[in-house]
Amino acid sequence: MHCRAATIRPDNFIVGATGDWEVVIGLEVHAQVNSCTKLFSGAATAFGGQPNNQVSLIDAGMPGVLPIINEKCIEQAIRTGLGLNARINTYSVFERKNYFYPDLPQGYQISQNRYPIVGEGFVEIYVEGEVHKIGIERLHLEQDAGKSMHDTRNEYSYVDLNRSGIALMEIVSKPELHSAKQAQAYVLKLRNILRYLGTCNGDMERGNLRTDVNVSVRRPGEALGTRCEIKNLNSVRFIGKAIEAESHRQVELLEDGCKILQETRLFDPNSGYTRPMRSKEEAHDYRYFPDPDLLPLELNEAFIEGLAANLPELPDSKFKRFKKEYGLTSYDARVLVAEKRNADYFESVVGGCEGKLAANWVINDVFGRLNREGLDISSSPVSSDQLCSLLKLITEGTISGKIAKEIFETLWSEGGNPADIVSARGLAQVTDTTQIEAIVDEVIKANPMQVQKVDDNPKLLSWFVGQVMKATGGKANPRSVNKIVRKRLALN
Ligand code: ADP
Ligand code: MG
Repeated sequence: MHCRAATIRPDNFIVGATGDWEVVIGLEVHAQVNSCTKLFSGAATAFGGQPNNQVSLIDAGMPGVLPIINEKCIEQAIRTGLGLNARINTYSVFERKNYFYPDLPQGYQISQNRYPIVGEGFVEIYVEGEVHKIGIERLHLEQDAGKSMHDTRNEYSYVDLNRSGIALMEIVSKPELHSAKQAQAYVLKLRNILRYLGTCNGDMERGNLRTDVNVSVRRPGEALGTRCEIKNLNSVRFIGKAIEAESHRQVELLEDGCKILQETRLFDPNSGYTRPMRSKEEAHDYRYFPDPDLLPLELNEAFIEGLAANLPELPDSKFKRFKKEYGLTSYDARVLVAEKRNADYFESVVGGCEGKLAANWVINDVFGRLNREGLDISSSPVSSDQLCSLLKLITEGTISGKIAKEIFETLWSEGGNPADIVSARGLAQVTDTTQIEAIVDEVIKANPMQVQKVDDNPKLLSWFVGQVMKATGGKANPRSVNKIVRKRLALN
């Protein structure tokens, strides 16, 4: 397949050969619920176990056993709903979604269809300087299926049921996203909220956050176009690529006078294109009906209120608080709250110093360095305690910012305690003015030409300051040096 070049304007419209097109995207995110046991059985959910070692009779679809609802999973779904500003439904129903597949031993998946546990809500995303409010349609609970594995010689297929029966939350957005970037920001924000809540660990590589992307295009202002659904994207990068490829494919077809077939497609990372998986005609008839083994789920308000009262601080509130409490810019606050672990690191650093100083060091020196070295905050060689002590030394005037950078290098590569490093290496700032005055005088004496020129060229002042700093190995207080140089050169 080829692809004609089409541009995307800053307002996200695709510029086609026959005019503009608006991209419309709705996402279905499957998030694995954090809980030790499965949705309807007591089998463990831990990742990485020996195949088929975490399987109860229920998960294996044996007859004559009854599912029992795991209260923890219900709590997690409600807490997630609350975190998504959503209505919690006090009445919801588990239904059977019937289909045949080797990794589904029951022959049906227990899911929620007409009566989900969580109704409408919203998430705010920030993309290219703008905040967008994206509607959530619903959140429902369902069982995950097992996993098929095909051997490399294609001789046998194996089924691992460890995943079978683990609780998933399917979070369905309204079709209110209009670019790949917005969809990516939405998934990242959603994952961030789930991580703050502790309801899903959001690890896409392990498949515990999987996204189906629905894409259509239309002329601005017209009714929604026919959509295609791209299944099972497990990285933010692929979500973006799949949307771009699919929206351009649809624009080309429509501009050529063809119709879009409603179908399920797959994204092929190797070619960068989407290809058909099944059309609407081939779609399953799931024959949903209420599971006779499970009563409707009725919640009382006090239970919901109890969970609401104990929600942790979520990213948007933390963002506002960081700005207010620590005087941070929106940019810094946004970077810091984008991952809970990062925000926690910052908060344990900022105790001993001014907010802006801590934010600069955490974002530029720690995050920047971790990024370059492909590490994440949990494996940072410099702990928040070490950085906190280092920044205290700057704040107290014991060391200059420049010396602090050197000590940071040492902490990064060798570890240690900042105060000990300062005393062991004699790095404390020279604050004794007579000592500085003596060095200034030496520098002036050694550079008579420069002294003559400084009257006409005041820029030379900083050259003198630089020479003095160099002579002190960067240990003098730059402000005192500046003052003394001015005095000695009789500048004002
Ligand atoms: P299903 O996939 O079960 O048919 P829905 O019809 O509720 O479920 O839609 C699923 C997802 O598709 C939702 O996220 C919704 O926002 C999105 N969606 C629905 N219509 C369109 C459309 N025309 N273009 C893009 N996305 C759409
Ligand atoms: Mg769907």
